[in-house]
Formats: sequence, C-alpha cells, structure tokens
Amino acid sequence: MLIVLVLAGCGGAPIDLTPKPNQDHAVEIIWGYLGAKSSLPEISWRPMTSCPNGEPGLGFDDGEGKCVAGLYNYSGGFAIIMWMNTSFHETALAHELIHAWQFKDKGIADSTHSIVADWHQVPGINYNLQDFGL
Ligand SMILES: [Zn+2]
Repeated sequence: MLIVLVLAGCGGAPIDLTPKPNQDHAVEIIWGYLGAKSSLPEISWRPMTSCPNGEPGLGFDDGEGKCVAGLYNYSGGFAIIMWMNTSFHETALAHELIHAWQFKDKGIADSTHSIVADWHQVPGINYNLQDFGL
C-alpha cells in the first residue's frame, strides 16, 4: 500500500490491480513456459504514459528516477507493468515475470540481466502469447 501512495505521489496515475481480460491465461502461458514452481507475484498495471521529466519514450518513474515500462520489486514481491493498450505480448509482463521466476524459484536477483539465457526467452514467450491472441 505504501508503494501505491508513493507512485501515485510521483505525479503518475495510480496503479491498478484489476486484472486485464485473459490475464490468467497470459500468466499461465508465461509461467508454464518458464516451468516456474513458485506462486505468482502480484501484478498491477499502470496506464500507458510518456516518460516523466521530458525523457523520450513511454514509461513511468521506477521510484529511482528511471523511466521504465515495468518493474519487479524484489523485497515486495510484486510487479508493476505499463499496459500498452493492445495485448500482453506488447508489455513488459514476460520480462518482469522472468525476474520473479529467477528470484522466487532460483533465488537470483538478476537486476542487471546478466543471465543471458534467461533473458533470451522473452521473445519466445511473447510469440507464444501472440499465438493465443494475448
Ligand atoms: Zn529487467
């Protein structure tokens, strides 16, 4: 709850915990693709917005001054993702769930994306989502 207030206080729109249509299916595909065993993190959404502070591109402030399209909070165990007004494969959902999977299943906090083999799974996951119209 603190995070909600902090982010809302940054001038952005508040996060939204309401699942997007077919979110369960999208998450099931991603979690299955990874072979994840842990419980899912809480997923919340931010509306599509331009980066704050005149930075180019789309995204929101990650709380540390960086413009991102999604984040996974290791200590809180939740993900916040910008909804791109289209479908899940256009969002950072697969990326942030890989962070969650690495952390919860393998005990690794790879915030610098150094485990290349894990990150190379993102396109494959997104193609799968696209195949299902997600
Ligand atoms: Zn990342």
